[in-house]
Amino acid sequence: MTTQTSGQATDRTFTVVNPATAQAVTEVHLASVAETDEAIERAAAAFPAWRDVAPGERARLLRRFAAVVDDHVEELADLEVANAGHTRANARWEAGNVRDCLNYYSATPERLFGRQIPVPGGVDLTFHEPLGVVGIIVPWNFPMPIAAWGFAPALAAGNTVVLKPAELTPLTAIRLGELALEAGLPEHVLTVVPGQGSVVGERFVTHPLVRKIAFTGSTAVGKRIMAGCAEQVKKVTLELGGKSANIVFADADVAAAATSAPYAVFDNAGQDCCARSRILVERRAYDEFLGRLEPAVAALKVLDPAEESSEMGPLVSSGQRDVVRGYLDDVEVAFTGTDPGGPGFWVPPSVVLTEDPSAPIWREEVFGPVVAVMPFDDEAHAVELANDSEYGLSGSIFTSDLGRGLRVARAVEAGNLSVNSHASVRYWTPFGGYKQSGLGRELGPDAPHAFTEEKNVFIAH
Ligand code: NAP
Ligand code: MG
Repeated sequence: MTTQTSGQATDRTFTVVNPATAQAVTEVHLASVAETDEAIERAAAAFPAWRDVAPGERARLLRRFAAVVDDHVEELADLEVANAGHTRANARWEAGNVRDCLNYYSATPERLFGRQIPVPGGVDLTFHEPLGVVGIIVPWNFPMPIAAWGFAPALAAGNTVVLKPAELTPLTAIRLGELALEAGLPEHVLTVVPGQGSVVGERFVTHPLVRKIAFTGSTAVGKRIMAGCAEQVKKVTLELGGKSANIVFADADVAAAATSAPYAVFDNAGQDCCARSRILVERRAYDEFLGRLEPAVAALKVLDPAEESSEMGPLVSSGQRDVVRGYLDDVEVAFTGTDPGGPGFWVPPSVVLTEDPSAPIWREEVFGPVVAVMPFDDEAHAVELANDSEYGLSGSIFTSDLGRGLRVARAVEAGNLSVNSHASVRYWTPFGGYKQSGLGRELGPDAPHAFTEEKNVFIAH
């Protein structure tokens, strides 16, 4: 075992590094353009037979895949702890989320209904037909769930899938590809293609046999992918960055708001597109809120993620740690929690106070354990501050006035709001962003439609 400052790529291999220890874990082969083409062509060749699998049989295969994943939850969790530095509790939840997505969308094949629309002179029918090969490009922050949010509905709707994990975190995706085969999915129906974004990801975008890209990652890369897809009018969904607001009104249970706020931003060491990284507090409650926030941040268990009780682990790479430290170097940090130190990529949970809505720490996605707190004067001011962002992914509203909770939830320009809660992701409810946080929706009952074309057929009497 050698010590690495971060994952390192040569032309053909990538050294996966444990973020908690900076130790090398394993080497992963990086696919070339030629190997990517081969995977896409095999997926295209596998498509007609997969499309024609009887609905009940496709459903049964997806349920078997879910069952095999369930049998391997601990193994998958171990891989994610070692590869991404996720806490054990999170990693276990993430593997379980893959199983749950597969089970949920296993109900799709027999229920992918079209419509019969009244027309004169005949019968009009609609069909939801699969697209062919779908390319899924996944970031490193939630390698398992984000892959499954794409492949579960895509496969259920009858597509074949090529999946590119992030270079930093390929291990669970590779294992899921093996488990799919073990469960009996035909070869080349789900193909994992580890490699570089600029090689494998780009090829998904440019290859004409890939009919849709489901991309999750940074807004900068997402824009580039959308532009690339325009060349072939390729379908695309984008799940991008965020700078979500956690709005705390003075009439709220301020103690509950303050003690839950750290978990809403520091979970996964803040590497969460839904992180509530801006806290807005009504001025009357500001001092009380901060007084309760400080001990809550100090109490957060930032420990080796392999320990059962760990609530926050390291950042994914030395590069990401340096990005986050760069933000912290430019601001005054009001208070922090702890971190265990050592060779891993640690940054303690950090709280910054600001009254300047133009400050980079208030506007830019840090993607690390950093939260900015700002006071507001009234409801209109809170909504104005929350919406003064190019992002619009999620948000929370704490108030004891349910009318206000609903009013503000409707007024905030974001795809996923929670009132007196921070929960924003469930596999059976839609998820996605407003503005530059994304395009399209994932999860929920309609996700399979995003992997189909709607065909209209008229039959004359
Ligand atoms: P990223 O750099 O955009 O990478 C995301 C994925 O795209 C990776 O697999 C990457 O491959 C690949 N990629 C990079 N350049 C590409 C290109 N030119 N063509 C095709 N694919 C390319 O983002 P990240 O650094 O992994 O993740 C952090 C960012 O993602 C944050 O901004 C975060 O908010 C956002 N994010 C959003 C959501 C959401 O659901 N809205 C979820 C997670 C993350 P490599 O690994 O080889 O670079
Ligand atoms: Mg990147």
